[in-house]
Amino acid sequence: MKKLQDLVRPNIWALKPYSCARDEFKGVKADVHIDANENPYDNNVNRYPDPLQDKVKAMISPLKNVPVENIFLGNGSDEAIDLPFRIFCRPGKDNVVAIEPTYGMYQVCAETNDVEYRKVLLDENYNFSPDALLSACDENTKIIFICSPNNPTGNAFPRENIEKVLNEFQGIVIVDEAYADFSPQRSFRQDINKYPNLIVLNTFSKAWGAAGIRLGMAFASTDIIGLFNKVKYPYNVNILTQKKAIEILSDLPLLQRHISMILDERETLKRAFETLPICEKLYPTDANFFLAKVTDADKIYHYLVEKGIIVRNRNRVTLCQGCLRITIGTKDENTKLLSALRQYK
Ligand code: PMP
Repeated sequence: MKKLQDLVRPNIWALKPYSCARDEFKGVKADVHIDANENPYDNNVNRYPDPLQDKVKAMISPLKNVPVENIFLGNGSDEAIDLPFRIFCRPGKDNVVAIEPTYGMYQVCAETNDVEYRKVLLDENYNFSPDALLSACDENTKIIFICSPNNPTGNAFPRENIEKVLNEFQGIVIVDEAYADFSPQRSFRQDINKYPNLIVLNTFSKAWGAAGIRLGMAFASTDIIGLFNKVKYPYNVNILTQKKAIEILSDLPLLQRHISMILDERETLKRAFETLPICEKLYPTDANFFLAKVTDADKIYHYLVEKGIIVRNRNRVTLCQGCLRITIGTKDENTKLLSALRQYK
């Protein structure tokens, strides 16, 4: 990896971050808080939240086996996807490389930040070649994005392919593990010490059952986490989200139960789906959804909409022609999907 300072935008390296009221008094025990121009009358939300979310991180740390200082929390992992563009990529000059197809926000963030987005097509089995990714890079490539398990294809990539990119790329590698809780593969977050250029993303929106609270996680070296903290909005995770996260993190058996129910349902739904006359191919999945090639994706999509069942039509996504992406629902939702599709003519 290049020296971190050589990867970071010079203005960000030099940036003196905003120091908020809650940063300045930290560690001091006080009963009178007349420093932040808040309304003093208690209604549970009249105070600003903890800017660095110490309590939430203290609960995540043992669970994910990552020290608190290597964790960033953001307003969804979408925030943790956007910040690296603002930290590393000089608008109009730098570029990023990503597999294609993949999660659409990488490209949206690149374009919002005026950063060239280079796509490297997956092969017919939805795998990527590390050499192809590396050869798409030039001296201005700051980040490579690898989503594993990948959205929308559903598959996790072989570990050695990701390791090769981590070893050989001189810039930052973001491994988005939003769906890793559904996959038997070992998480890359255990490797942040080994690879100083690695950022691993996780989210509360999938297995954790909390898409509505908007809480995403990034795991990386303390230097990279320091840069995230420098650039983020001072109070990026609101007080209601922090409270709810603490509640969710206090009930790990519920999380485990949900994951195993979703995985059981995934196998049942896949087996039934494969026997449907509309199903031409069902792709292997390590996530809580699967991609299926069907006889007529647009027509079936609209037929399901009419029945009040919404799946994701991926027919116009590169390499996903003819495909629908189906999230594993409850037993009842999956039964409704199957019975609607059995009636389709
Ligand atoms: N990464 C991937 C691969 C996703 O599919 C999604 C959501 N669809 C996200 C990140 C965004 O997650 P969050 O809700 O944490 O912003």
